[in-house]
Amino acid sequence: MAQYDVIIIGAGPGGYVSAIRCAQLGLKTACVEGRETLGGTCLNVGCIPSKALLHATHQLHEAEHNFATMGLKGKSPSVDWDQMKAYKQDVVNSNTGGIEFLFKKNKVDWIKGYGSIPEAGKVKVGDETYEAKNIIVATGSVPASLPGLEIDNEKGIIVDSTGALDLPKVPKKMVVVGAGVIGLEMGSVYARLGAEVTVVEFLDTITPTMDGEVQKNLQKILKKQGMNFILGAAVQGAETTKTKAKLTYKLKKDDSEHQLDADVVLVATGRRAFTDGLGLKELGVEMTERGVVKTDGHWATNVKGVYAIGDAIDGPMLAHKAEDEGMAVAEVIAGKAGHVNYDVIPSVIYTHPEVAAVGKTEEELKKEGRAYKVGKFSFMGNARAKAVFAAEGFVKIITDKETDRILGCSIIGPAAGDLIHEVCVTMEYGGSAEDLALTCHAHPTFSEAVREAALACGDGPIHM
Ligand code: FAD
Repeated sequence: MAQYDVIIIGAGPGGYVSAIRCAQLGLKTACVEGRETLGGTCLNVGCIPSKALLHATHQLHEAEHNFATMGLKGKSPSVDWDQMKAYKQDVVNSNTGGIEFLFKKNKVDWIKGYGSIPEAGKVKVGDETYEAKNIIVATGSVPASLPGLEIDNEKGIIVDSTGALDLPKVPKKMVVVGAGVIGLEMGSVYARLGAEVTVVEFLDTITPTMDGEVQKNLQKILKKQGMNFILGAAVQGAETTKTKAKLTYKLKKDDSEHQLDADVVLVATGRRAFTDGLGLKELGVEMTERGVVKTDGHWATNVKGVYAIGDAIDGPMLAHKAEDEGMAVAEVIAGKAGHVNYDVIPSVIYTHPEVAAVGKTEEELKKEGRAYKVGKFSFMGNARAKAVFAAEGFVKIITDKETDRILGCSIIGPAAGDLIHEVCVTMEYGGSAEDLALTCHAHPTFSEAVREAALACGDGPIHM
């Protein structure tokens, strides 16, 4: 029977990163993956293909809206949807192939197939059983369903995010159920491709965990880009024909019932942890009320030698959170001090403009009754943003009123997903807005807006 120090089940960003780190730390490591390619949800049907489609359709938007202004004349490009999907698939393939290369380079064995844990210290894949001193559950998540909406990605009328990444054609009318990150990103893609997109959301705001000002701004900007929003609406169900759907929803404010016609309904109401078939119940592994694996501060379950990370456990369902846990648990197993700072995990929405946030929002601090300062700077005052038609949005930094220590930051604007990281690093070091403001920032860059927001926490910004 093959023996390992560590077997990881699942090769998403949590599992594959953990496998590489385990191997780097000298542990004999295998990773079990049932999919035909490595990389999990993120690389195959999540972060990467969605960003490829967002990139391609953003180029189309630029060509249609901004090229002529810059003196770039000529016909706007037409859309070859099959070619766009082929490009997306090439991007996926090169990334998943890259992980296979990294496994070989680091001598991680890929055990192909779906695994279960018949008893602590053993992993079964097909007819083979492998021994492992440590087992890491990194089986991720799958789209959550909504009663009354039966997902059928093959049929392509009521689909989840996986189906939405691979529609046979661009729909004329699309309804997106759920105004979270995935719904808004995929809605943006199809709106740019010419679909009439309507987002139906149960809550009264979009992106519920984001700063209130960001929510309002993003909704306004996306509306200008052609997306419609129906908020405070409870979806009741949908009837489908061979080619269309009729979605019924009730407005919460007056209980009135309404209907929407669509060629495609995308159900984007969240994801649920996936641990089916692992045998965790029989093994006695405790789960939380939310149906995720219960772990302690070191990602250990209540069963000795069994750990869990990523979307399968509590916390934000984000690839980089899974990766950080993957590295940290490897270090814990190797006898080192693995660490994840859950207070400094950025979240990003890759619409245009991008939205990024880290730490506390103003609403959260108000609730906590904590005294804070706000420094805000609009991209209208940023020369680079103006030059590239990206001056919508702002940087908002929130600091402790007494100490000036940064407590949170929200950015809506160009490259927000990259800009947020200098705030993350400052927060990681317990830094203040003044620390950021005193750091020289190259001109002309979008990052100057972050510095100006930091200056706004003190004596004031220069360009506003
Ligand atoms: P997963 O990536 O879900 O990987 C788990 C793997 O385990 C899967 O490959 C599965 O096949 C395998 N598996 C499950 N059970 C078994 C078994 N018994 N045996 C063997 N293998 C098994 N996050 C971001 O941070 N940024 C983004 O931009 C972003 N965009 C997204 C866009 C979309 C459309 C979607 C759907 C998600 C997006 N996410 C994004 C979320 C991100 O994909 C997840 O948070 C991340 O993939 C979680 O990683 P994981 O390793 O925990 O699990």
